[in-house]
Amino acid sequence: EAKRDGRNGFRFYTPDMTVEVRQRVMMMDELREAIEKQQFLLHFQPQVCLTTGEVIGAEALVRWMHPEKGLIPPNDFIPYAESSGQIAQIGEWVLMEACTKMSEWRAQGYNLRKVAVNISNQQLRRKSLVMLVKQALADTKCQPETLELEITESTLMQNPEDMVEELVQLKALGVSLAIDDFGTGYSSLSYLKQLPINKLKIDRSFVRDLDVDENDRAITRAIIALGKSLNLTVIAEGVEYASQVSFLASEQCEQIQGYLYSKPLPEEAFLAYLKEHKSRREEMAEWI
Ligand code: C2E
Ligand code: MG
Ligand code: MG
Ligand code: MG
Repeated sequence: EAKRDGRNGFRFYTPDMTVEVRQRVMMMDELREAIEKQQFLLHFQPQVCLTTGEVIGAEALVRWMHPEKGLIPPNDFIPYAESSGQIAQIGEWVLMEACTKMSEWRAQGYNLRKVAVNISNQQLRRKSLVMLVKQALADTKCQPETLELEITESTLMQNPEDMVEELVQLKALGVSLAIDDFGTGYSSLSYLKQLPINKLKIDRSFVRDLDVDENDRAITRAIIALGKSLNLTVIAEGVEYASQVSFLASEQCEQIQGYLYSKPLPEEAFLAYLKEHKSRREEMAEWI
């Protein structure tokens, strides 16, 4: 029998809780095995410069290659891994893998300026992140300036005072820092000025309805202006339509990422994409 506290809605017990708990435990076991057997892989999504049409970077996005269930998207397991602490090992693998790929591609003559790696809340809170990044760069001979770390705005703003020192140390390694999902996490503008960041990623939720929502246009315009005045690169994520590119170009947003250019791709397809699209300038001229 479920017991509820009427005032704050806190549930002491619900009949379906055992199912939820059981599911969590199962997930932990499966993730433990996935980590042991390295059942993860990265997909890469191109990031394009709006003025030159050049593919200037890629975001590395993790997938779980489950032996029975197939490819599992990050939103279906990262939250579990965060609460179980297993994100540390997954995140370490992601970092090593992204740096390894970057190094290999450079040796093969691919000219990609940056690979962006998502850093979770838990990872950032461990004091060892700086050492880990340093080690990954050294072990893989990845050039520090080709690695970008994406940290969500809500993670950064949880404890901005405590973050400054760690971000400064990360930055000192030569890597660049981007604020992911920007606009959703209630930034304190005074902290934003103090943090050693390079880039703002406009959250997909604002980009999605640019065609129809005047408020989203206003917010997007404001973020681009904020970026410019703080000397930060601004990238819009989740771009699916030419009309969005047109608006973003008119507002002088610098970079774009989204399905219009490409979905996240497995390595081989990504490299083929790089070869095929040295520049997307001509198509883009039509969109703008
Ligand atoms: P994110 O970092 O904001 O990544 C962008 C997500 O938006 C990706 O989903 C990408 O596939 C999707 N996306 C990109 N362009 C479009 C578009 O035009 N339309 C739509 N509808 N979606 C688009 P994905 O790969 O499923 O990743 C979801 C989230 O999982 C990421 O959001 C990130 O928060 C997390 N994540 C992914 N890889 C990692 C990782 O290696 N470590 C950690 N800690 N988190 C990760
Ligand atoms: Mg991201
Ligand atoms: Mg994002
Ligand atoms: Mg997101």
